[in-house]
Amino acid sequence: MNSTLPPLEILLTVDVEFSIHGAFTLPDATPLGEENVLCPDASGREQGLGRLLDILAEHRLIATFFCETLQTTWFGPEPMGRIVQKIHTAGHDAQLHLHPCWAFFHHPDWRERLRHERPNDNCHGRTIQELTRWIRAGREQFRQWGVPQPVALRAGGLRVDRQLYRVMADLSMPLASHVGIGIFMPEEPELRQANGLHRIDGVLEVPVMSYHARLPRPTRPWRALTLTGTSWWEMRALLDQARRTPHAPVVVLIHPRDLAGPYPDHTANRLHQSRLERLCRLIATHPDHYQAVPLGTGLERWLSASPIPSRTLSPPWWTQLMRILEMRPR
Ligand SMILES: [Zn+2]
Repeated sequence: MNSTLPPLEILLTVDVEFSIHGAFTLPDATPLGEENVLCPDASGREQGLGRLLDILAEHRLIATFFCETLQTTWFGPEPMGRIVQKIHTAGHDAQLHLHPCWAFFHHPDWRERLRHERPNDNCHGRTIQELTRWIRAGREQFRQWGVPQPVALRAGGLRVDRQLYRVMADLSMPLASHVGIGIFMPEEPELRQANGLHRIDGVLEVPVMSYHARLPRPTRPWRALTLTGTSWWEMRALLDQARRTPHAPVVVLIHPRDLAGPYPDHTANRLHQSRLERLCRLIATHPDHYQAVPLGTGLERWLSASPIPSRTLSPPWWTQLMRILEMRPR
């Protein structure tokens, strides 16, 4: 082990978004707003965002929250505005997230249109005009919310192609965390990166970490490092592997609703809350090995960073087995 290595940087990234909640498939359904992020349980306690902010505060860790703006088409600016203010006031980093499916609500006759048109949520395969309009509108929304301008973008569902990077470069938006090949495998080979730091068409891409896990599906070995899909033992093993040699920042993907059970009860999801607590405790109690860093601050340092190639990390088989055991229905 090389004891002179600096601490491994960890980006705790949180996608903050509202839910279509069946509105495109069920005749009377409408989208779900703040409740999808706050997840209040029967006693009114927030098992989603509130619990997440509490856990981060207990361990004095800063996270990056990618906040979705196209949903304002349906909800208007206030509901997400309250959430973004809460995140900003707690000292975290708020950046831009886009789910294009919300643009469908631009059509006043959207329910009628559903008979012959399917909304899609892809940020890939889009026109320059669409992408430019959405990023500009997102920035304007941040300005109206009175929080710092976003410098980083994450595509909804990690569905990305190089067109998005070109548009970002044209709009001087320098940082991206679009890629997560365990969730979505882009068409273009340059974007098929499991981790690392990559310059794509003038934008620095910091992928959500993907790793090799042959359980349970040897034919589809890539998994993304997420709170819902990675066991605590896998997380610990991956971080330990990564820190022992020079390694790019490790990006973890979290959603506030991961910490709660299903709608409408939102009871605490003890498994996911315990994973997050253990991860945060590991980082907070081992400052020589790990450091939680946000994406949107220290911009100069990010922009001057040298590219780091992707590496294939794989946690021991028994940690993968623990995931399968944890996820089985009880
Ligand atoms: Zn999302």
